[in-house]
Amino acid sequence: MGEVQQAAAPWRVRFAPSPTGALHLGAVRTALFAWLMARKTGGQFILRIEDTDQGRHVEGSEKQILDSLTWLGLLWDEGPEVGGPYGPYVQSERLPIYQEQGRVLAASGAAYFCICSPERLAAMRKAQQEQGKPTGYDRYCLHHTEEVAAAMERGQSSVLRLRMPEGRSSWDDLILGETSFDNNMVDDQVLLKSDGFPTYHLASVVDDHLMRITHVIRSQEWTSSTPKQLALYAALGWEPPFFAHTPNVLGEDRKKMSKRHGAKDILEYRAQGYLPGALLNAMALLGWASGTAQELFSRDELVAMFSIERVNRAPAIFDAKRLDSIQAAHLRQLPDGELSEALEPFLQGPSRTQILSLVPLLRERIVRLADAAGLVAPLLERPRWPLKEPFPPAKVLPGDAFGLLERTIQRIDAGDLENPVALREALSEWATTKGAKPRDIFRVLYLALLGTAAGLPIFDVMKYLGAEEVRFRLEQGMRELSMLVDEL
Ligand code: GLU
Repeated sequence: MGEVQQAAAPWRVRFAPSPTGALHLGAVRTALFAWLMARKTGGQFILRIEDTDQGRHVEGSEKQILDSLTWLGLLWDEGPEVGGPYGPYVQSERLPIYQEQGRVLAASGAAYFCICSPERLAAMRKAQQEQGKPTGYDRYCLHHTEEVAAAMERGQSSVLRLRMPEGRSSWDDLILGETSFDNNMVDDQVLLKSDGFPTYHLASVVDDHLMRITHVIRSQEWTSSTPKQLALYAALGWEPPFFAHTPNVLGEDRKKMSKRHGAKDILEYRAQGYLPGALLNAMALLGWASGTAQELFSRDELVAMFSIERVNRAPAIFDAKRLDSIQAAHLRQLPDGELSEALEPFLQGPSRTQILSLVPLLRERIVRLADAAGLVAPLLERPRWPLKEPFPPAKVLPGDAFGLLERTIQRIDAGDLENPVALREALSEWATTKGAKPRDIFRVLYLALLGTAAGLPIFDVMKYLGAEEVRFRLEQGMRELSMLVDEL
């Protein structure tokens, strides 16, 4: 099948997380790739919760998965009606569907019942390991069907195993290229457990077929499962989908991502105030490159430019600094109103209009939206004297600091607040006549106005605070200084 033909036909893709914990960057990156291909080809993106391994179920993770995808805008296109938006498909609600296919497989001989006890299986595995052989089921039950049937008749519990066919399994992976496994190395996988639950392999194949998935896009760790799944498609007489196994995401030290690398639950990025668009942009670049110098992409540009064939098979390295620079760039492009709205949940205190007027001050100074709170707090609350930091700051004489504050008030009374550039120039000039560096002397203004030696651009801060408040804060600073300056 040529590339052109593939691109023209709509792709039905799915994201099939197991609810075994929070969604991390690598998993969501794979979901993004699938979502992009669905959008690009005018197809559908399906969300399926694979919860058949009930022992690994983590309470609350399903909600976390839905919240993460919703926050990022990776919305799924169909699912059972749950009143309102679609729910995802949930495998534990579909058990009879898998059991039915289990019966089909058992009847055709493509699968067989196995009554081996966990003890026998453990002993077998130990012996194989000791002999340096690959571990795998030894097919005892395949060769003792009468014994198995009699035991099951007596009510002994059993599992259903795939009879892995001879030969090789090959497929043309859209990312890995031609991929092939010797079936001798592939175990006779359990398909249905004794409690009637399917394992991942059976449930996934049955669902991918029934949900008419055309392209399975999933992480590379599942590559070795593909031969088993291809055997199932063949045994059930179904056409397999195309496969694309996405590269792993590693930390900068090329080790598997973990907490250490900031491998956070996606919702932690939301809590810190990353923009969904910036995170999507950064995630798209984990394994994919447009082939141009462009680094910043809107969601629509990603949809237009992304292609799964351009995803590199080598592991992708997550670079937190790159995410931050992409985030900063997205922040700069955001219209005032949108940035203000995005900031609202992070700023308790200021009104909506106040936040909107703070936007020009904050835009260049923050990376994460959560950074805004610390910068805005000193605007809302007057400094508490005595300050934690030395006042006047090092390299500035109390008399000069006093003079600066006095001069500033004069200029403000003369109407300079409206013109921060002129005010800055006038005060810089004054500082130079005193033989002081403007940088040192402006620290006096920061301290008097904000209580800290750095923060948002101080002349913009003054404009924001307004003449009356600025005068109040500066006079307070002058009072503190007058205690230090005897001759004043
Ligand atoms: N449930 C599997 C997971 O948690 C999905 C594997 C697949 O996409 O086939 O990753």
